[in-house]
Amino acid sequence: MTEINLEVEESKVTSKVALLDLSREALTEYVQGMGQPAYRAAQIWDWIYKRYALSFAEMTNLPKALRQRLEDEAIVSPLGIVTQINSLAKDTQKVLFRLPDGQTIETVLMVYDKRRTLCISSQAGCAMGCTFCATAQGGLARNLTSGEIIAQVLYFARYLADPAAEPRVDVERPTAVTNIVLMGMGEPMHNYKNVWDALRRLTDGDAFGLGARHITLSTVGLIPMIDRMAEEGLQINLAVSLHAPNDELRAQLVPINRRWAVDDLLAAVQRYIDKTNRRVTFEYALMNDINDSPELAAELGRKLSPLLCHVNVIPLNPIPDSPFQPTSDEDTERFVQILRDHGVPATVRLRRGIEINAGCGQLRQSTTARRAA
Ligand code: SF4
Repeated sequence: MTEINLEVEESKVTSKVALLDLSREALTEYVQGMGQPAYRAAQIWDWIYKRYALSFAEMTNLPKALRQRLEDEAIVSPLGIVTQINSLAKDTQKVLFRLPDGQTIETVLMVYDKRRTLCISSQAGCAMGCTFCATAQGGLARNLTSGEIIAQVLYFARYLADPAAEPRVDVERPTAVTNIVLMGMGEPMHNYKNVWDALRRLTDGDAFGLGARHITLSTVGLIPMIDRMAEEGLQINLAVSLHAPNDELRAQLVPINRRWAVDDLLAAVQRYIDKTNRRVTFEYALMNDINDSPELAAELGRKLSPLLCHVNVIPLNPIPDSPFQPTSDEDTERFVQILRDHGVPATVRLRRGIEINAGCGQLRQSTTARRAA
């Protein structure tokens, strides 16, 4: 049985100073170290977090010599664009970004009536090895820095704020990021410190300033980190990717289950609820003839009914040539109804952007495959 290695080495990804990796205090120290007054740091901070500047050239209230020096020794955004595609309905946009060391990550923007939700990545690749997931197939390359996590949000904030930005979307023009889900590439709890540094800046009114309740962190269930999150004091939503109600099946789909079993995970979720009084979401990707039987639905219903929770049933985004295929609409409805019959609130999450490989890791995988062909 393969043991999952949870040790990750931190890597320095650019020789320049990555300003998005700096706290406000660290940025002030850096700017003062250049012999500049502290208010210059405040100006730069404002350009980055409130005006979504991507380059020093845009920071027109800074002296030209300072802009040049910053250009030489620092970077604003670490992201370059590899590919950018829209769904046919133009309500889903996916971008494959390249990081300074050549790693690639995906970010997805989903436009709903009132919400503009971003699905962001927390790692380049992933170590968790979920058998139905495209990202898992390449393993983990490295953790993202806090700045690389934030940069994904700022990129789309800038796009949404600019009515002339290409590509245009047909739906009513949205102007701001309203929700963020950490459900892209990677396991956020496996990159805990950088993720929480990023979350603090994304929710800080002096920085990006998004309400914590509009952010959801999704995990496969790293129990010590769920306990730690309960102590953070930020009202970020917790989602747990469960995908099976018992150890036998879950260990096949989500290998980390061999370290932290279903009942222990549910006990950790109960502790989290007791501590925070917050409702937890369980994600359940329905796979035809794998985890979608009425018996499994009933078992899941029995286990979840004591918890303050909600189940998001997700029709699987199929990976080409994979044995895991989505459940039919009829069987999905039956599964959801059984959960409801057990008193567990459940909804089917809309599947977005199948034709643009919007499932986690699929665009990166198909781009890599095309290059290799
Ligand atoms: S489903 Fe999530 S946690 Fe599992 S391998 Fe894919 S990215 Fe990692």
